[in-house]
Amino acid sequence: MNATTEPRSQLFHQWLTAEDTRKKEEFFARLSGVKSHCIMCGSPSSQAKSGVTYFYETSDGSDAGFMEERCFSRFLLSSIYNLPQGLPGDDPVRLMLQDTIKESAFAFKPVSAGSGTEVECHRFDLSGLPMSSKAYQPGELAPPLDTLRGYGETLRDAFLFVHPITTGNPEAILMEENYRAFAKLKRHIAEQIC
Ligand SMILES: [Zn+2]
Repeated sequence: MNATTEPRSQLFHQWLTAEDTRKKEEFFARLSGVKSHCIMCGSPSSQAKSGVTYFYETSDGSDAGFMEERCFSRFLLSSIYNLPQGLPGDDPVRLMLQDTIKESAFAFKPVSAGSGTEVECHRFDLSGLPMSSKAYQPGELAPPLDTLRGYGETLRDAFLFVHPITTGNPEAILMEENYRAFAKLKRHIAEQIC
């Protein structure tokens, strides 16, 4: 080893350590802003580590957290797709919709409509391509809309973004590269609906 390579490799090592520290700090900063329970049913997200779960974040960044797969898909099937209650778990329409949901990102956006407020529900594929959208009365979408509560009875001028997580470790979405891809998709969708 000659005299110049050692300091250089040392510098590189220091840089790597600093970079690693920054990534860790950013990860824990994000994690501290994330609710630790499913916003649909209130059960701890640590109990929902298997299968597909969903990560959500409001566009203004003031709320973020997880939803269990069964809670979010049950909500979509009844409120968005109007599937009748009590349909068997192996019903073909239900299975098809569940597969679609797992491969989709959703945005819920309150908009003024006449004297009141409606909520647009947009479905996108995971590259951000718009697939469908429809407006609903806020009462029909109650639990997830709590994330957009503003002052008094109003909803904030923001949207709720929900994205599936296909790993067994929900927190991995908050790590550098994963979170960057998530934030990029959220920006791409914001450009289309705002
Ligand atoms: Zn739940």
